[in-house]
Amino acid sequence: MKWSLTIAKVFGIRIRVHFTFLLLLLLVEGEWSEAGWVAAAWSAIFIVATFTCVALHELGHSLVAQRFGVKVSSITLLPIGGVAALRSIPQKPAHEIAITVAGPLVNVVIFAVLYAVAVWVPFKVPYYPGLMLTPGLPTSWAELIGVMLLVNKLMIAFNLIPAYPMDGGRLFRASLACWLPYPRATAIAATLGRTISIGFVVYGLYQGLILLCVIGVIIFFAAGAEEKTVRVHSALQDVGVGTIMTPVFVTVGPDDAASDCKPWIFQRGQDDFPVMADGYLVGLLTREAVLEAARQAGGAARAADLMTKDFPCTRPDAPVSAVHDAMLAAGQRTVPVMEDGRLVGLLTLDNISRYFTVHPAGVGKTRTGTAA
Ligand SMILES: [Zn+2]
Repeated sequence: MKWSLTIAKVFGIRIRVHFTFLLLLLLVEGEWSEAGWVAAAWSAIFIVATFTCVALHELGHSLVAQRFGVKVSSITLLPIGGVAALRSIPQKPAHEIAITVAGPLVNVVIFAVLYAVAVWVPFKVPYYPGLMLTPGLPTSWAELIGVMLLVNKLMIAFNLIPAYPMDGGRLFRASLACWLPYPRATAIAATLGRTISIGFVVYGLYQGLILLCVIGVIIFFAAGAEEKTVRVHSALQDVGVGTIMTPVFVTVGPDDAASDCKPWIFQRGQDDFPVMADGYLVGLLTREAVLEAARQAGGAARAADLMTKDFPCTRPDAPVSAVHDAMLAAGQRTVPVMEDGRLVGLLTLDNISRYFTVHPAGVGKTRTGTAA
């Protein structure tokens, strides 16, 4: 996710904080001006404690995913929760169920541990029964433990609501996928998710719960976006890279001026350029690098100085679905296609979307997030 800062790396997974997280500083600042620095410090401790629980919840999903061979590139913390970026879709419904259950299970464990601490400590920890309580920000360790018990209880309850793509919705989809094809199961789960999200917005507006409205809107669009991803993925499973790659493309030499590629970007519609030395692929010059070189005075920067050397390649017989997943996860637009050590083509996101323009059957019924 763009606009995020990596704050830690656990089991090879980057834990990132999205810049919108800074909005929470407003809460701390508000406490500071209203109730002084002690109250502000407690609100900061509360935020850190809450998002530690969110990060642990996402780590629960991620570690089980990794056990099933699903790579997880990062966990991003947003003011409304966390997102674990899985690089591929779990292959079996049973795997998806295990991955999904692991998140809320972490909150159950945290709840149990905090409950044991609350019983054991010499001071009285307040217990907030039910879910719809707003006890206010904690001002002591006892209140912090009490509020964190409530937070974890809320996280468990909220994630059991079958509003896809929240955890409960994923469980619903996975159970449907035991009987139905994956895209059909996703479509049903996404429809239910959107319906519930509208309920969240209406109830939020009625009760003045702005956060619930925001979550409702996000779920609504996320359900549509994930449904589209699944449809595209399943339609691309039977298509080989060789069928849709571009076999004709422009290459550059390491000593060529990077800015020379600029006309090809609009004349040929080619975004990224393989850098070839003695017939071998040595790098990839991206559109951004070409435009940057063109902006620099003189425009003489060499392709070799601006190219990236770290990029995945694929084969003509690989299924497009797997490559497409990797491209989306890495934010990569172009993947070189190699056969027997030779560069034979380029697979681009543009190739994939053009494929669907010509063969709309696969995703013809796709409903995007913007369609109601
Ligand atoms: Zn979760």
